Amino acid sequence: MASPALIDPFGRHVSYLRVSVTDRCDFRCTYCMAEDMTFLPKKDLLTLEEMDRLCSEFIGQGVKKIRLTGGEPLVRKGIMTLVESLSRHLRSGALEELTLTTNGSQLARHAHDLARFGVKRINVSLDTLDPDKFRKITRWGDFNRVMEGIRAAQQAGMAVKLNAVALKGFNEDEIPEMIRWAHGQGMDLTLIETMPMGDIDGDRTDQYLPISVLRARLMEQFTLADIPYKTGGPARYVEVKETGGRLGFITPLTHNFCESCNRVRLTCTGTLYMCLGQDDAADLRAPLRASESNELLRAAILEAIGRKPLGHDFVIDRRHNKPAVARHMSLTGG
Ligand code: SAM
Ligand code: SF4
Repeated sequence: MASPALIDPFGRHVSYLRVSVTDRCDFRCTYCMAEDMTFLPKKDLLTLEEMDRLCSEFIGQGVKKIRLTGGEPLVRKGIMTLVESLSRHLRSGALEELTLTTNGSQLARHAHDLARFGVKRINVSLDTLDPDKFRKITRWGDFNRVMEGIRAAQQAGMAVKLNAVALKGFNEDEIPEMIRWAHGQGMDLTLIETMPMGDIDGDRTDQYLPISVLRARLMEQFTLADIPYKTGGPARYVEVKETGGRLGFITPLTHNFCESCNRVRLTCTGTLYMCLGQDDAADLRAPLRASESNELLRAAILEAIGRKPLGHDFVIDRRHNKPAVARHMSLTGG
């Protein structure tokens, strides 16, 4: 018998679940959040056991890759118990990859256990190598702690990929140095365009730097060779000949990648978003809690996948000066 698979109305196989385990964070990156945020009431959160049940049902339906994210996933209390319990699916072979996107602030104390529970690679977000600028962009972050976290992750044997959001007037001149540094430390680096999600204390048009512009500038000093490398995500990779390292580009605005979208996103309250750039969502908490068996939940998941839209409608320019979706990236975790 063929193994179960979640297929959406456009024939795309949904094999990747991103799980935001908390919408809270110990940073306040200026492009992600306002400084004064209202978070979800704690009473609305799924317990970690409920998250495990939900993830396990998705795995039963053919999901092969799970990424924990947030908010900051490592600030969720007890998060390692979820990582440990999900690791049984890695051992059984039902799940191919369990991974994490983190700001790195708590990584030093969790790196060893993450590796022990089967996490082989992680993404760390880092937008600058300058500690003062780091404090400015994250508002609350401590650069040295993140560096310690990255070192601890590498020492624990995990591959680290850095994600940097390309920000006009902030890190655009620093990107070549970041490429050399990341590649020198054995890390891939991916550059991301800012996406118009949620109100922030400022104007996104001022921050938006099209990756196409950045890429053209990088080509003045680097030789970028297209390579077929894929990690199951939307990044397109090049090899930087001068460093021998990989550089990824995530370009939701200048190059839409929806046609190959393989993912859905679960929030910490059990809401499933079928597209990062659309408001439509399905509540999985009610069917999860309505019964101890998973039949209602399974039906709700299938119904939701049947509504997965074709793609997003992100635009950033002076005429479209409102977020495309009202929720912040921290609710779904990117
Ligand atoms: N807190 C973790 C972190 O920062 O890695 C995980 C969650 S964070 C929301 C996931 C990724 O989304 C980070 O790499 C962050 O830089 C990126 N991000 C946040 N807001 C964004 C926005 N409006 N546009 C593009 N990327 C954004
Ligand atoms: Fe927190 Fe990540 Fe958003 Fe920064 S990007 S505020 S670290 S959730």
